[in-house]
Amino acid sequence: MEELEKEQILESLRKIVRNVPDFPIPGIQFKDVTTLFNTKESLSMLTNVLLDEYRNKGITKVVGIESRGFIMGPIMALELGAGFVPIRKPGKLPAAVFEEEYKKEYGVDKIQIHKDSLAPDDVVLIHDDLLATGGTMFAAYNLVKRMGVKKVYVNFIIELEQLEGRKLFPKDVDVKALIKYPI
Ligand code: AMP
Repeated sequence: MEELEKEQILESLRKIVRNVPDFPIPGIQFKDVTTLFNTKESLSMLTNVLLDEYRNKGITKVVGIESRGFIMGPIMALELGAGFVPIRKPGKLPAAVFEEEYKKEYGVDKIQIHKDSLAPDDVVLIHDDLLATGGTMFAAYNLVKRMGVKKVYVNFIIELEQLEGRKLFPKDVDVKALIKYPI
């Protein structure tokens, strides 16, 4: 995709993301990505720009994080000729799992992945809708790394830059986000 065309598409998509103030609690500016999925035009633009970075990377599995990573994750997997693997909250995956614990603003949370879902020769793209403090994706990254795969890419639709979530990741990890907001 040409750089100029990509810039124009990203500018259009940025205008379509809906900002909902004070959701789910006062003080949070919630970035609602459902408006990007709402029309065939925006869904198709979003799919194309998301895929642009990953077409020649030999991705074999797209890992999506519950729950908003379950929307574009499988679409990207299908387009890349890869499989899809869900990362879920505890108690949802039925077979044997690996688990990772991570700190939230208040207390701890856990995420799980099926033990047999990734193999050593997999090239993995982990996708979620939004990078805030990075806690969720960093736990997902560690979970996938523990499974000894060949390479891991990290992808978001949106990044809230002032929260500096990307600083959690080692420098050599490819972390990409399409649309950036200060907060
Ligand atoms: P974090 O672990 O802080 O990076 O939080 C990321 C997760 O929380 C993602 O799965 C997002 O869907 C959600 N999230 C956090 N902050 C926001 C926000 N301002 N707008 C929409 N979703 C958010």
